[in-house]
Amino acid sequence: MFTKILKYSVFSGNKEELISYIEGFEKINIVSGNPEVLHNGLNDKLLFSSFTGERTVIIPDGIGTVLASKIIKKPVKEKIAGIEVMEEIIKKCEKEGKGIYLVGAKEEILKGCIEKLKSKYPRLNIAGSHNGYFDLKDCDHIIEDIKEGNPYALFVAMGSPRQDLFIINNMDKLPCKVFMGVGGSFDVFSGKVNRAPNWMIKFGLEWLYRVCKEPWRIKRLSSIPKFLLQVVKYNKYK
Ligand code: UDP
Repeated sequence: MFTKILKYSVFSGNKEELISYIEGFEKINIVSGNPEVLHNGLNDKLLFSSFTGERTVIIPDGIGTVLASKIIKKPVKEKIAGIEVMEEIIKKCEKEGKGIYLVGAKEEILKGCIEKLKSKYPRLNIAGSHNGYFDLKDCDHIIEDIKEGNPYALFVAMGSPRQDLFIINNMDKLPCKVFMGVGGSFDVFSGKVNRAPNWMIKFGLEWLYRVCKEPWRIKRLSSIPKFLLQVVKYNKYK
């Protein structure tokens, strides 16, 4: 159920298989493995050891990662979008009466996200929340609040690597089962940012839509060719 891309094990099943796979863990960190995140991990020991650790599952979230799996001729079944996994977990939590906690984004976005989630999932237990603008080295009050809320899932929307570092630093301290960095997902749930139209998602063009809407993202796309080049080289000289 995994494809080895560089030194990473990337989940190669579909979304449903992922949801049942994470059931088997006492604690699991779901990492949205787009080329930028995986490329960052190659240059940072702490991130790398977390991404390759036993309590982490990397999902192929990004057309660049799907392409990498094709280059090495071990294609993943499908691109798995982090935001869709987040929503599946939310549905499960609503159904089973489990709590979620949200950390990240600006205060008004976070409030909007919570409002929208409450109206879409009326029985969802949102055990607590905190915006994403605080000192990572001075956040004991947030950790205590999460402990008190005792959520099943913790979603952290602060972009990478900040969200990954928050999870790495606190995974052992917290009682949650699912930890997941979800980037700009609160912005999408709040309605501030739209996801690309379905046809663009289908053709792997979500990145193009995001760059058109937020042109400053263009710089971040440079990690895609860098990552793919590393995949090609690694595969050639392995
Ligand atoms: N963000 C945050 N704290 C910070 C920096 C960013 O909470 O110190 C939030 C920001 O408000 C936005 C999200 O992180 O909601 C941005 O995530 P990004 O778009 O970088 O993630 P991507 O979807 O590209 O992985």
